[in-house]
Amino acid sequence: MAVSSIPRLPAGTSGPADNPAMPAVTPAPNDADLIVLRPEGLYCPAGGFYIDPWRPVERAVITHAHADHARRGHRSVLASARGQGVLRARLGDVPMQAAAWGERVAVGDVVVSLHPAGHVLGSAQVRVEHRGRVWVASGDYFCTGSNEANATCDAFEPVRCECFITESTFGLPIYRWRPQSQVMAEINAWWQTNANAGCTSLLLGYSFGKAQRLLAGVDASIGPIFVHGAVEPLNQAYRQAGVALPATRPVDEATSRTDLARALVVAPPAVQGSAWTRRLGDYRDAFASGWMQLRGARRRQGLDRGFVLSDHADWPGLERAIAATGATRVIVTHGYEAVMVRWLQQQGLQAGSFRTEYGDEREERVDTVATTAEAAPPAGVRSGSAP
Ligand SMILES: [Zn+2]
Ligand SMILES: [Zn+2]
Repeated sequence: MAVSSIPRLPAGTSGPADNPAMPAVTPAPNDADLIVLRPEGLYCPAGGFYIDPWRPVERAVITHAHADHARRGHRSVLASARGQGVLRARLGDVPMQAAAWGERVAVGDVVVSLHPAGHVLGSAQVRVEHRGRVWVASGDYFCTGSNEANATCDAFEPVRCECFITESTFGLPIYRWRPQSQVMAEINAWWQTNANAGCTSLLLGYSFGKAQRLLAGVDASIGPIFVHGAVEPLNQAYRQAGVALPATRPVDEATSRTDLARALVVAPPAVQGSAWTRRLGDYRDAFASGWMQLRGARRRQGLDRGFVLSDHADWPGLERAIAATGATRVIVTHGYEAVMVRWLQQQGLQAGSFRTEYGDEREERVDTVATTAEAAPPAGVRSGSAP
């Protein structure tokens, strides 16, 4: 089919027209899309603003402070009040408007409101209302089939809409998260075993969101807890927002290696195998991530352990979240777009995708730990690799 025959789909999108099994849906002429894809990012023409743009723009609505969604250089920003602390830390001194959950803010010809996404502190979905029609852009969100919540932020809240723009980071049926309590019990058991052996436990997780979720779930009675320098400022932002975390100290404050022998050290993944880890002496390492569910991921990365813990929705969670919106049209952003779009079309929904520049917070590796992620140490420095 010639591109000119589907003029209403912006560049980079695909829709039912690509799927011969589904009839193409032709919306009424006055049924203009409330959010479209532009080179700068997701754009709301009636409101004149972008959502999580990857290029600098006049007016941006930011869903959350992960580096791939909150870029620098915008002239003005609207974001959730709950996320202000972490967002200011990342974006610096930019004019920022804060909205409480559900607060209705007029922007251009539309009404914007923000609703919790359950992903990290302050993470929001963006609801856009225009002349009675409603679209919602999810940003990143955490939702599971069993409706578990992330204890370190406000829980995902489904919002009714005609079109839902969803992430699909873990949009494959193999991704099904086990109860968080089980995963945290495994992490505590691992830490306890290492502590009994006089061996430091280096637990790797993204410094914004995952690190705090791990800290909130560990059993602080096992031993002292130290954190990497990239983690502590975010801990402070969480504590200031009223999230209870155990006492943590920067690793630099450890006075001796005996201080670290029973300790848990929480650090971003980029420190793995770097010179930074030399200060830990004898240690075991583990990575907490949804990616650890992939067969061989732990082994390929040379880790002692992998714990499957994600701040994104699993497959049943994506299904559940999408159904709860009541949307008849779904646009899929980053992740396994093709699989997700095909599945949605099989459910009878109008589905397409936006090619965005979001990723799984990978940019954080460069962004916050570049100064500490040095070259790998010489062989033999890292010790104690368990099978
Ligand atoms: Zn994110
Ligand atoms: Zn993302």
